This record gives sequence, structure tokens and C-alpha cells, in this order.
Amino acid sequence: MTEQKGMMSLRALYKIGSGPSSSHTMGPEKAAKRFSREHPDADGFRVILYGSLAKTGKGHRTDAVLKRTFSPRRCEVVFDRETEPLPHPNTFDLIALRGGQVIAGDRVFSVGGGEIRFEQDGETEQNRRIYPLTSFREIADFCREREIPLWRYVEMIEGEELFPWLETIWAAMSRAVTAGLEDEGTLPGGLRVAKKARRLLLSGTGSTADEEHSRFIAACAFAVGEQNACGGQVVTAPTCGAAGVVPAVLSFLEQKCGYAEKAILNGLAVGGLVGNLIKTNASISGAECGCQAEIGSACAMAAAAAGAVRGEEISVIECAAEIALEHHLGLTCDPIGGLVQIPCIERNAVAATRALEALRLAEILSDDRKISLDRVIAVMNETGRDLSSRYRETAVGGLAKLGIEPLGE
Ligand code: SF4
Repeated sequence: MTEQKGMMSLRALYKIGSGPSSSHTMGPEKAAKRFSREHPDADGFRVILYGSLAKTGKGHRTDAVLKRTFSPRRCEVVFDRETEPLPHPNTFDLIALRGGQVIAGDRVFSVGGGEIRFEQDGETEQNRRIYPLTSFREIADFCREREIPLWRYVEMIEGEELFPWLETIWAAMSRAVTAGLEDEGTLPGGLRVAKKARRLLLSGTGSTADEEHSRFIAACAFAVGEQNACGGQVVTAPTCGAAGVVPAVLSFLEQKCGYAEKAILNGLAVGGLVGNLIKTNASISGAECGCQAEIGSACAMAAAAAGAVRGEEISVIECAAEIALEHHLGLTCDPIGGLVQIPCIERNAVAATRALEALRLAEILSDDRKISLDRVIAVMNETGRDLSSRYRETAVGGLAKLGIEPLGE
């Protein structure tokens, strides 16, 4: 894939869509819709999934999503777990058929967070790089020179439509939290995992304020994670698997700390900026860099977002994001059964509480930092590429290999 300079819009980061996996369901769904539109004369389709898509596509329901999207035309899905090396761990081929003959084909990469790249595409309006600066350092210098906060920089680049659009993103995040907090029962997929968001929410009453707050945050993160696991609507932040972290932190700040919606939207802008830096300079894909790229990135985004909501200095925001990402370095991706449930959902809750802890530390320690956010992002990238492929969303290592235990039954 050809590398381009600059960063894309936040619109390519925060995307509203159906779970459980941005790379395995949202991305392929988007590609299939476009390919189907482009080939109205086809009477059938074949999709060949490679790499992580082939290895965890069943658990992530990639085949079901593709068949539904191409319906009523038929679609055969082939899981090719052998072909290596691949240009990207989430590669798939779309093939259009007519009378059993191949009439067109395209190779697609699901690059994380529901974003896709068709091999034949050059630069399109959608993937246009609108941010010229690609490091936190450069952006911070730009803002300090002009004495503007980070959210204002995002608005300068994205235009005046930024905040109305962020309102729709925040509304979708809030809907996922609310739906998850009201939901009960068992998650689909066969692991018999009980939904726990509501239980966590109700367990908070009668505790100390600190305990109540951390259970509230965990409940909100579980709520979104469980909605995602059920195929419900979530917002990639930066992915479906990690979609609960940012909404949990921002729901806490809004509902328990009383911050106004404009402050929450500022937080979304700054959290998105940090997510964009990680996406551009490293990865937000579990298949590329392990869970540090999903949950670690989400934690950094949430820490930065919380800092922006509280009106912190740029150095504090950077320090919070750096701490949040640094302490997820090396985190592996090992979803049991290829489902986005264990360890994913609980991991959202832990990362959400960690994000606020990172900010608390940063508020005191940011004046004596020795490591920049840019450096930790670079380290995350290198660490991720060095991880054995068993720990990059292939469901053959770690917890995924050992599976669940019959505890408490
Ligand atoms: S373990 Fe992390 S990266 Fe892997 S599917 Fe779960 S949330 Fe995504």
C-alpha cells in the first residue's frame, strides 16, 4: 500500500456502525456495499478472506455480514488461512460473478477502525489527508504559538461543521451507553457470557463516592462493549472492540461531574486528534499491532479527552495520553473463540478507569516528563510489529488458545 503524508479527517476515525468488529464487520460491510453498487450486472459474488479475517472471521461474523450485505444476490465466502505473506493482515478479495464466470475483482484491506482501502484506489475525497502536521510535537508548537487550545486546532482543520458532526457522534455514543445499561441476558456466540453492565451500575449505590464513580465508569464501558458484542450500534473509538472506553469516561464527566456538552465535544475533538496520531504513525488495528493498538489507543484518547474537558494545558493532555498508552505497551490481542467478548469487554472497563488515573498523574507530574507521546506511539508501533502473529487477532494464542474455565459453575 502506498504511504501518503498527513492525517485524515476525524470522520475517518469516529464511525457509527454495527459491531462486533470494526475490521471484521464494519470494514467488509462497507467494501461489499460499494462493490455491489459498482457491479449491478453481477448475479453473485465470492469473497476470499485472508490472514486475521480468515482466522477470526467466523467468531466476528464476517461471513454473515457479507452474505447479508450482498443479499438477495448470493455470496460465497472462502476462508483462506494458508496464504502468506499478505500486504496487510486484514486482506480480502471481492470477486463479481455472472453465470459462474468472473467479471470483476478487487483487493481490499480492512486497515482498522472500520476503514477500508481498495488496492486500486488512489487518493479519494474520503481518504484525503487534511491535517498537514503528523506529530503531537508539531501540533503542540502550532497551538502554543497561536495561543489556542488543541480543540481549536481540530476545528481549524475540520471546519465549522466539526461540532455539529461531533454532536451526532456523542449522541450515538450516549445511545449505546443507555441501551447497554438497560440490557440484560446473555451475549450471543456460545460462551454463555452474562451481560453485566446493569449489575455493575446497580452495585454502585451505597459505596463510597470513589467506588461508586469507578463502578459507574465500568458499567458504561461494559454497556457499550456488550452492545457491540450483540452486533448493536456503536462508534469506533478508535475501533468497535475498544468502543466503550471513550464514552465511559465522557459519560462520567458529563453525568457525575456536570461538564456541559460543549466541553464533552471538545474532549471528543482532542481524543480524536490523539487517536488520529496513533492511527497515522502506528496502528489502531489489533491484527496489526495487538490490543495495545485498540485498547491502549482508546485509553490514550480517553485520557486526552478528559484533559480537554477539564480545560487542561496542552502539556498535561500530552502527558495523560502518553501515560495511558505507555502502560498498555505489549498488550496482546487474544479474543476467546474469535468473539469480541473475553477479554475485550472487561478490558474496556479497566482502560476507562486507567484513563482517568493517567490524567490525575499527569496533572501533577507533567512538568517533569522524560518521554513524549510521539515516542510512545513509535514504540507501540515497533512493539506491535514485533509481536508474534499469535497475539495479533488470530485467536490462536494467549487466552484464546486456553479458552474459558468452568469457574463458579
Ligand atoms: S483483545 Fe483487544 S484488540 Fe483483540 S479483539 Fe479484543 S479488544 Fe480488539
